[in-house]
Amino acid sequence: MKIRVFSIEEFSVYDGPGIRTTVFLKGCPLNCNWCHSPEGKRFGNVSLRSPNRCLNCGRCIEICEYNRKKCIGCAKCVDVCPRDLIRMSAIDYEVSELVSKLLKNADILKINNGGITISGGEPLFQVDETLELVKCLKGKTHIALQTSGYGNSQKFKEIIDNIDLVLFDMKVMDEEQAKKFEGIDNSLIFKNLEILKNSKTKFIIRVPLIPGVIDTKENLKEIINKIKGAKDLVRVELLPYNKYAGSKYKLAGLKFEPMYDENMESNPHLDLFKANDIEVRVL
Ligand code: SF4
Ligand code: SF4
Repeated sequence: MKIRVFSIEEFSVYDGPGIRTTVFLKGCPLNCNWCHSPEGKRFGNVSLRSPNRCLNCGRCIEICEYNRKKCIGCAKCVDVCPRDLIRMSAIDYEVSELVSKLLKNADILKINNGGITISGGEPLFQVDETLELVKCLKGKTHIALQTSGYGNSQKFKEIIDNIDLVLFDMKVMDEEQAKKFEGIDNSLIFKNLEILKNSKTKFIIRVPLIPGVIDTKENLKEIINKIKGAKDLVRVELLPYNKYAGSKYKLAGLKFEPMYDENMESNPHLDLFKANDIEVRVL
């Protein structure tokens, strides 16, 4: 079985406990307005072009039989760039091949209380492939899944029953606002959160503090209502807004258009979590 990856990061310290190797799977059904990995959104393999140091020689345009916006991933433009500025957004691996690659540093990761984190995009977008990957990694390393929770519920349950930790994102709670800012119906996320709460797998809730959208008192209170008292909740991790969220859009030939005020300071409202006896960390 083939699995499509857009990045592998080694020695990561933000994707779960210890030192980890994180694999980012391609494709995401959400369309979060603040997404800072636009190259991982589309499942299709497209060219990514770094605008810095471009000579404007036009070779990549001459060789392309398609408009770049309708890129079919033929990779012809990669070889013609004299400055090596173009790369493809995806690499396809056989699951077994990816497992060997990820376990390359398994001993070092173990000594440092770490392991492998499967992230995205949204790993549940390639749900069968993720399940296969998890089954192959099981027993060989600590496995974490970083997910928006948006995916097939039955397979989600099977995945979480085979791993050690889930990093579960919680973002916009209001249904209409979720459609506006994330492009999805968030009821599936809440359904999968209940499945997670009823499982035996430990989990961390991760909240990106998008100013004026996710970091409002009202929204954070709704998040707390959904998770308080959950027996396997380890803690909540709050992610301050990343002001470089838009930096990769040019690379992917896309435009970053935030529907919120990027310059507003995000507010973690730590008192709300403390009042509900929920351990909270700001990353
Ligand atoms: S990979 Fe490059 S040459 Fe091929 S379709 Fe995409 S932009 Fe054009
Ligand atoms: S081939 Fe490379 S240097 Fe030439 S225009 Fe394309 S990206 Fe720029």
